[in-house]
Amino acid sequence: MRARAIYDAVPLYDPKRTPVDIDLTDNTNLWGMPPHAREAWRAQVERGITRYPSLYASELKETLAARLGHGITPSMVVTGCGSDDLLDSAMRAFAAPDDVVAASLPSFAMIPIFAQMNGLRYTAVPERAPTGEDADGAVVDVPALLAQDAQILYLSAPNNPTGRPLARATLRAFLDGSRGLVILDEAYAEFAGEHALALVHEYPQLLIVRTMSKAWGLAGLRVGYAIAQPDVALAVEKSRGPYKVNAVAERVATVAVRDDAEWVTTHIDLAIANRERLAAELRSLSLSPLPSAANFVCVPMANVERVSAALRRRGVAARPFAALPHVGDALRISVGPWPMVQALLDALPSAIHDAQEEGTNVR
Ligand code: PMP
Repeated sequence: MRARAIYDAVPLYDPKRTPVDIDLTDNTNLWGMPPHAREAWRAQVERGITRYPSLYASELKETLAARLGHGITPSMVVTGCGSDDLLDSAMRAFAAPDDVVAASLPSFAMIPIFAQMNGLRYTAVPERAPTGEDADGAVVDVPALLAQDAQILYLSAPNNPTGRPLARATLRAFLDGSRGLVILDEAYAEFAGEHALALVHEYPQLLIVRTMSKAWGLAGLRVGYAIAQPDVALAVEKSRGPYKVNAVAERVATVAVRDDAEWVTTHIDLAIANRERLAAELRSLSLSPLPSAANFVCVPMANVERVSAALRRRGVAARPFAALPHVGDALRISVGPWPMVQALLDALPSAIHDAQEEGTNVR
């Protein structure tokens, strides 16, 4: 049996995540899961799982809408099995095979894969070189992205893997000029202290995608959500299909959103403090981390593949990225409790040294 030809080119996702003592690769909440969510998770065992969950996670949608504010109603919210599910479903709902998905480069590694899975054409538009004025902000090339005339435009704010925030004026320029659906991925917005929720009332083509995997500490449950005007949310929900958020996930995520906001805020503040402390420590090692608005730090570094392998040998993992536009090779380090970050800082100088030595030996 032969699958559709487009699947020949679709790889299985493999971020090389082998077990390691200290894993700073995936930007999850390294402090753990929130306390009320944990209780709800235990209680759910007693309730059992013999029956189906709700069709479209209506309780979770109501709870999210109430928490989000900014005039967001339950009909403007759609949930999914991780925000991955929403990105995939949105592409299916708003683009037909051979339509173009355009994204700024670098950005989330799954976007080209979801485009491929849906038979869409993916175009990456490299960031432009930062100038003195915007060295601290995103450097998305708005005119070049708009020139793609894409059915779907994808932006992430803060961006992954750079951590850079997106200036509001840049976002507006993008929305004012776009023809198709604009997906704004706010997976890390909780750490940025800014978000674009209010803009969904103004722009009917805007779909904001969020996740419970990062600040909310629930990555293993696979819960994401998106916010848009009701007709857009409905189309994504139809494309997603029923029963995608399982009963345990809906219950635990609902309780977290309702009762754990304080715990989450406290840990966001800790992550931000440790992010700035990590950046300062990296600077003291003569490295130049990019300014980050997320719960990770991206630091340009030569021989990054070899550095990350040498770190792994010392029991610490951080994620290497090759040849990012205007940045070059870089290491992305998730921020967590300080002892975990310190373990990376302790291992980094000798890992860099080893990587340099190996490089010299190869030549
Ligand atoms: N968007 C971005 C920018 C991400 O970094 C991630 C996770 N790495 C996701 C979406 C997917 O998150 P999830 O499917 O766990 O909600």
